[in-house]
Amino acid sequence: MNVDLRRLAVTALLVLAVGAPIVAQREAWTRPFPAHRVIGNLYAVGTYDLAVFLLTSDEGHILINTGLDDSTVLIRENIQSLGFRLEDVKILLQMQAHWDHTAALAEIKQITGAEMWATAADAPVLEDGGFSDPHFGGRESFTPVEVDKIIADGEVIELGEIRLTVLETPGHTAGSSSYTMRVREDGRDYNVAIANMGTINPGKQLVVDPTYPGVADDFAETFRKQKALEVDVWVAAHGSQYGLHGKYEAGQDYRPDTFVDPQGFLAAVERLERIYLEQIAAERR
Ligand SMILES: [Zn+2]
Repeated sequence: MNVDLRRLAVTALLVLAVGAPIVAQREAWTRPFPAHRVIGNLYAVGTYDLAVFLLTSDEGHILINTGLDDSTVLIRENIQSLGFRLEDVKILLQMQAHWDHTAALAEIKQITGAEMWATAADAPVLEDGGFSDPHFGGRESFTPVEVDKIIADGEVIELGEIRLTVLETPGHTAGSSSYTMRVREDGRDYNVAIANMGTINPGKQLVVDPTYPGVADDFAETFRKQKALEVDVWVAAHGSQYGLHGKYEAGQDYRPDTFVDPQGFLAAVERLERIYLEQIAAERR
C-alpha cells in the first residue's frame, strides 16, 4: 500500500470507529418513543434516548429538557397522546445545558409563554446558546433561551400540587441539576429522583488543566449528594442511563413500581464515581 492509500485506509477506519457510533447515537436521540407515565404525575415525553419529562398539575405543567432543535413536534405529540397540552406548560427546566437537551427550549418557550428557570451556572450558557460552555463552547450550539429565574440547591419549585426540590449536581456542566419529589400512589410514598448523572464527556479534564476551575470538586459533590439520596424511582437525562428500555416496553400498562430501582441508582452513581477516580489517577500519572 502506498502512503496515500494507507492514509485513506486509516481515515476510513477512523470514520468507521468514531462516525458510526455518532450516527447510531443521533438515530437514538431522534427516534420517536411513546409517551408514558413514570409514576404519579411524572410522565416521560421524550425520544428513544433523550429524556424529556412532564410534571402535571391542575394549575399548569412543568417541562424538563427538550431534545434536539427539531424535537418540539415530537414532544407536543407525546404530550397530546397523554391528554395534556404543550400550551399548558408554565415552567421550563433543564438538567444540563448541552444542545441535546436544550435545543428546543427557546421555541417551546415562545409557543407556551412559559418561564425558563435555571441554576446560576447553567443560566449564562442557556442564554448564549452554549457559546460560553467551557468544554463545547466557542460557538453557538443551540438557540439561546432567556432565563427568567435562577433556582438554587434545596429550593422547592411549587406549581399547583407539584413540589419539586432542586438538587444541584454540577460537573457534567457547571450548573447541572437534578430534581427530587415525593409521590403517593396506592397508599405508598415513593421518593423520586430525576437525576443528572455525573458522566464525563470525552476530552474533558478534571485536575490537570481542568476544563473549568473546580470541576473535580463539582463531580465529587454530585457523587456525594446522589449517594446520600433516598431513592425509590429514578430517571435520568438519557433513557439508556436509567435502563428505560429494560424496565419499560412501549404500550405496557402503568404500574407505580415499573421504575422502582434503588440499587440500580446507587450502582449507576458508584460506577460513574469509579470512572471519575480512574480519570483523576490517569491525569496525575
Ligand atoms: Zn451532556
